[in-house]
Formats: sequence, structure tokens, C-alpha cells
Amino acid sequence: MTIRRVAIIGLGLLGGSIGLAVKARSLAIATTGWDRDPAVRARAAERGLVETVCATAEDAVAAADLVILCVPVGAMGDAARAIAPGLAPHAIISDVGSSKEAVATALAEALPGACIIPAHPVAGTEQSGPDAGFATLFAGRWCIITPPEGCDPTQLEALSAFWTALGSKVELMDAAHHDLVLAVTSHIPHLIAYTIVGTASDLEDVTQSEVIKYSAGGFRDFTRIAASDPVMWRDVFLSNKGAVLEMLGRFTEDLTAMQRAIRSADGDALFDLFTRTRAIRRQVIEQGQDDERPDFGREHGA
Ligand code: NAP
Repeated sequence: MTIRRVAIIGLGLLGGSIGLAVKARSLAIATTGWDRDPAVRARAAERGLVETVCATAEDAVAAADLVILCVPVGAMGDAARAIAPGLAPHAIISDVGSSKEAVATALAEALPGACIIPAHPVAGTEQSGPDAGFATLFAGRWCIITPPEGCDPTQLEALSAFWTALGSKVELMDAAHHDLVLAVTSHIPHLIAYTIVGTASDLEDVTQSEVIKYSAGGFRDFTRIAASDPVMWRDVFLSNKGAVLEMLGRFTEDLTAMQRAIRSADGDALFDLFTRTRAIRRQVIEQGQDDERPDFGREHGA
């Protein structure tokens, strides 16, 4: 199966980046798109995020070989119901949602009998909306595909080839395992960032202006993550509740161990952990998942 026409539903950061990547790589694939917000549709047309911005979801998906839902996880069911009347019988329905079990269930309920192959490109930024997308978002990043049992191998191959053509490295994974892995690599780090930024802003004996003024001490790196889209992240935590709570339990135990080490002046425990974590950072860089320059390569002017 060859994908010649892709419909993108939701024209924000992820949807816009897919459309721009198809264009920038000159893939022989026609792109159509739709977003429920007319202002987003107008901006998407201005930026040329897809070749044709359609007035309805049904128009956008008509004749599409692949439909990718790029809406918040909690809106996947609604978006799937909106496209249902226009779908071609052979179409692959996929998505980019950050949690996978809940999305697979929502899509299967909304589109019984359709070929549904959920996916999650592990690539993003803290920005959202139709101005946030860019063509290189997926280059060198992993896209995790979570095929359901009995998935047609030809359609799975076509979806994998699509993501590879956008520059991604593709990995297949069971949806429940995806949700556990992403809970620890993405969801808990976001929860920690939201919490620490919230804690700092609530402190009464440290003023807000001091928090901002001295933020370069480490706080500002949390503020980047904590600036991520509130709707998207609300939906991620509600849809991946089990895995997040499981990982949060482990994290809380480790935090308590750190508290104990500090209280009992156990410098060896602190040193051992910090040595292990430094090695993890080295591996992230060696595997091309981040910039090796100090402080993420920020300029340090006079
Ligand atoms: P975004 O920039 O906010 O774009 C989402 C767009 O979908 C918005 O324009 C939104 O419109 C629209 N929308 C919401 N409900 C809709 C519906 N029922 N039908 C049609 N359009 C609808 O969000 P994003 O960052 O691209 O995230 C999209 C998906 O990608 C989410 O599932 C997220 O979990 C996943 N993801 C995000 C990242 C990241 O770093 N941001 C990374 C990987 C995966 P309104 O503004 O009117 O709601």
C-alpha cells in the first residue's frame, strides 16, 4: 500500500509540523487538513501547513489513504466521530497522542471496523497552535507505533514508511508498555516541572521577582516544560492515570530516600546517585537526543 493522500485533523504544533515536513521533503503525498477552530484553519492556510485546508472534517478525509488525528488526547473520540462519515474504506486512521491505550480505546469505539494504528512521535516543544509547527520537528526523533492485535501488516508497513520519510526512527511497541515508558520519560518530568514552578510561585518568604531574577540557577529549565499546553497535559494525565500513578509512587519513594540521605548527611548516597544520573545525560547526548553543548548551547553574552 502506498500513501498518496494524507488528511491531518488538528492543525497545531504536531499537525502543522507533519504538513510542513511532507512539503519540505517533497514527498509525493497530497495533504489536506481541518481544525475545529476557524481562526486556526485561516492561519493554517496562510502558513501553507497543508495544501488544502478544508471547511469540514468530512471533506478533509475524503479519499485520504491515511488520516492522522493531531488533537488533544481527550478530543480524539470527538475528532474520530467527526471524520467517520467521510472516510474511504481503505483508509488507515492514526494519531499522534501522547498516551496510547486510552486513545486506542476511544478510536475503536468511535470507528468500529476501521483500520486503526495509533502512533506517538516523541518530538515536541512547549509551544502550541498553528504558528508553532516546523518542518524538522521529527528529524532524528523516535516515532512509537502501537499496532493493535491483528493489525494488517501492509498498512502497518505503509504507516512506518510514512514516519520514516518524515525523518523519524520508528519503533513498534505494545500500547500499555508505551504508556509506562512515557510516564517516566515524559509525563512525570512534566508533572515535576509543573509542581516545582507552582511551589516556587506560592512561596511567601521568597518573592516572585526573586524567583524570576535568579531563575538561571536551574529553575528556568523547569519553566520551559511547565509552559507546555495546559489542555494537552491535563488530558495526558487523565488518560494515562494508571501508569503515571505507578511511576509517581516509585518517584515518591526515591525522593523520600534522598530526603533521608540529606537529613542523615549520607554524602555517599547523594554522590552515587548524581554520578549515575550524569552518565544518563551522556547517553542521551551520545544517542543524538540532545545538544552536547553546555547549557543546551545557549549564548552567554556579557
Ligand atoms: P495544539 O498545538 O494545541 O493543536 C491541537 C489543535 O487541535 C488545536 O488547534 C485545537 O483547537 C484542535 N482541536 C481540538 N479539539 C479538536 C477536535 N475535536 N477536532 C478538530 N480539532 C480539534 O496541540 P499539539 O501540541 O499539536 O498536540 C496535539 C497532539 O499531539 C496531542 O494529542 C498531544 O498529546 C500530542 N503530542 C504533543 C507533543 C507536544 O510536544 N506538544 C508531542 C508529541 C505528541 P482548539 O485550540 O480550538 O482546541
